[in-house]
Amino acid sequence: MSFLTIGSVAIDNLETPFEKRDNVLGGAATFISITASYFVDKPMLVGAVGEDFGEENLKILKEKNVDLSGLQIVKGGKTFRWHGRYHYDMNNRDTLDTQLNVLSDFNPSIPSHFQHAQYVCLGNLDPVIQRNVLLQIKSPKLTVCDTMNYWIESKLPDLKETLKLVDVLIINDSEARLLSQSPNLVKAARIIRAMGPKILVIKKGEHGALLFTENSVFSAPAYPLETIVDPTGAGDTFAGGFTAYLAKVNTINDITLRKAVLYGSAMASFCVEKFGTEGLLNLSLLEIDDRYRSFLELSRIEE
Ligand code: AMP
Repeated sequence: MSFLTIGSVAIDNLETPFEKRDNVLGGAATFISITASYFVDKPMLVGAVGEDFGEENLKILKEKNVDLSGLQIVKGGKTFRWHGRYHYDMNNRDTLDTQLNVLSDFNPSIPSHFQHAQYVCLGNLDPVIQRNVLLQIKSPKLTVCDTMNYWIESKLPDLKETLKLVDVLIINDSEARLLSQSPNLVKAARIIRAMGPKILVIKKGEHGALLFTENSVFSAPAYPLETIVDPTGAGDTFAGGFTAYLAKVNTINDITLRKAVLYGSAMASFCVEKFGTEGLLNLSLLEIDDRYRSFLELSRIEE
């Protein structure tokens, strides 16, 4: 099934307690589309970059078979830039700098073949832009939305308008508390689901994820990795794997949603093993399925 994502395409400066790297390819739509390429043919990307983005970065996306006809390269513009520093636990981070650059007046008009996309993953971006894109898609089968504290704090009314239009929201635990104004995640889930998205995924970093649907709550473990090199993009990768798995099986029910959470988690676990997108570039389908099965094993009990 066809898959479309919109989100930031970025150049990041990354600092962990152990290493520092500048000018690394990043951005929500980058992680999402690269991840989706393992599940669907030619994931469509909507975004904008400046002339400084560079051929090397475009080549990485092209090699993963990403359809870049919705990527604007703005003449004289500068690419979105983000600078993050991780704490010692690698679970928390500080944003040291965000430069919206070409994204500050990004108003995408999407190519006609993109308008028939069936599975849509709205990556972390201004909720007004997310909504504008969503309204250009004729009849999506599933819309999944990611967001972050930056937008919850600066554009709450707009975010709430966007949430009315989406089927699934994926956020982390601190964002769920912020959005719902409730410290308790179960209560937060009820409040957020009443805002629009009938399906909610709350990610808990190294502690796994919770899936709330109409009928049930599912708790997925996190993969116990000994080495976490760089957590950047794990959230986007999760969203990409989650949505693209559903696009692949083209069935949405409690079972496929649970499997989608595990595939999203499996892809995120590959992402954090290397810097930026590096951990996602050379995977085999066999490796992905093996990691998925390891997730199943994590909480299986043989009597
Ligand atoms: P994640 O670690 O999944 O939250 O995603 C990290 C990516 O999000 C980085 O590559 C950043 O370039 C991008 N990013 C950071 N802040 C924002 C923002 N305010 N809007 C859009 N993308 C962002």
